[in-house]
Amino acid sequence: MPGRTLPGPGRFGLFIGGGWREAEGGATFTVLDPADGSVLASVADGSARDAIEALDAADAARPEWAASAPRDRGEILRRAFDLIRSRADELAELISLEMGKTVAEARGEVAYGNEFLRWFSEEAVRIHGRWMHAPDGAGRLLTIRKPIGPCLLITPWNFPMAMGTRKIGPAIAAGCTMVVKPAELTPLTMLALADILTEAGLPPGVLNVVPTSRAAGMSEALMADPRLRKVSFTGSTPVGRRLVRQSADRLQRLSMELGGNAPFLVFEDADVDAAVDGAMLAKMRNMGEACTAANRFLVHADVARRFAEQLADRMGRLIVGRGQDPGVDVGPLIDERAVGSVHRLVTGAVRDGARLVTGGRAPERPGCFYLPTVLLDVHPDSEINGQEIFGPVAPIGVFSTEEEAVRRANTTEYGLAAYVFTRDLARTVRLAESLEYGMVGVNTGLISNPAAPFGGMKASGFGREGGFEGIEEYLETTYVALPAG
Ligand code: ADP
Repeated sequence: MPGRTLPGPGRFGLFIGGGWREAEGGATFTVLDPADGSVLASVADGSARDAIEALDAADAARPEWAASAPRDRGEILRRAFDLIRSRADELAELISLEMGKTVAEARGEVAYGNEFLRWFSEEAVRIHGRWMHAPDGAGRLLTIRKPIGPCLLITPWNFPMAMGTRKIGPAIAAGCTMVVKPAELTPLTMLALADILTEAGLPPGVLNVVPTSRAAGMSEALMADPRLRKVSFTGSTPVGRRLVRQSADRLQRLSMELGGNAPFLVFEDADVDAAVDGAMLAKMRNMGEACTAANRFLVHADVARRFAEQLADRMGRLIVGRGQDPGVDVGPLIDERAVGSVHRLVTGAVRDGARLVTGGRAPERPGCFYLPTVLLDVHPDSEINGQEIFGPVAPIGVFSTEEEAVRRANTTEYGLAAYVFTRDLARTVRLAESLEYGMVGVNTGLISNPAAPFGGMKASGFGREGGFEGIEEYLETTYVALPAG
């Protein structure tokens, strides 16, 4: 297959039933380097029929895997964790190449993503039901937790490894088999993971990976099949809605990790330096291409100018370039469409009266780059406040009361992550309770943690990944009524 020599095992086929094969008719699609549009690899382009064959393999492996010892499942995950740790540099390079983020950030993703395997290696042996006396004493109630069965796991391009491991980890731990459909823009890391999990001892058919450029046809075919019991999706809200509708006929269990529009609130009593540090993390992690990215900065009038100046100074000094080049802080966005969409939101905000403090355009070099941008006095109704920017742009709005800040923060259909900077404990409690978000970061710009339940409410979806909750998404409950004896 054409393309460069890439780090990692370099297999670009479909991974089905423990082996590599071509797609139906030998179909392929190309994966591009977002920094310059060059071809990185040509990958097997799975058809709906290929996906059904992957489900055949997942279904065949199901009974034995469901009955396997939890400790064995945990040990496989733990071995995979160790293997990934020993190959972290190679995987980071691969993530950086296909997704664009800097190698340093990609190393961070490998470390973070890998922790899901360690966490769920530990959770595999803590699956338990309960035994209880019926309230009237006349019977006993027993609950049994069972793996839900074959799952379809659909991942996005922004974290090619971590968005996979936080589904694969709990699915394996629970005793489920699966078909993984990685994002067509970044399928290579998942293919490398398939090899690593095999090396770690995962039996054939438990994990199947089917890249495709025809996602809709594939999910329709799989979700029409009664053997598929669960869909876990991370991606955009419109596709999430479509999958929810699609699940109606067969009533698959769903986990939906959808878009965000995170508010980042800075109060007058905040440590402004710490808020700027937090803003850099919450905004610039992954070039802003994260569903948890701070999307709307809401800053109290007393500190808004100082916060904006400091943030603009830090943002303006970031070096934009290829993710693999030394000294680079900000890689390319995923594709030309992303650059166009970010720029349209920025020009719209300026048209609505916002002041451009830094950035506001693509740099003068080819590739999908955009300069880190800060906008001040953004009008609350500007489109940039209603949409996920998914780029390195910080729009700042100014508020004067806590009540106004909360109202504006909650004025969105999304409800994934929110950030608050304040030194007032009572206010922190009020905010944690009144912000309609699945996750609230207090005086920190980084909330993702494999031990915590990650997930949203409202149009950001439902279900939780990571934490004690993460494995619940892959378990069913059978309640057994017993006599008192
Ligand atoms: P983004 O806009 O971030 O690319 P998408 O929601 O389009 O987000 O994509 C996230 C993932 O969902 C990708 O793996 C993509 O291929 C997949 N996807 C898109 N449309 C569908 C669909 N109809 N059925 C299943 N997966 C889909």
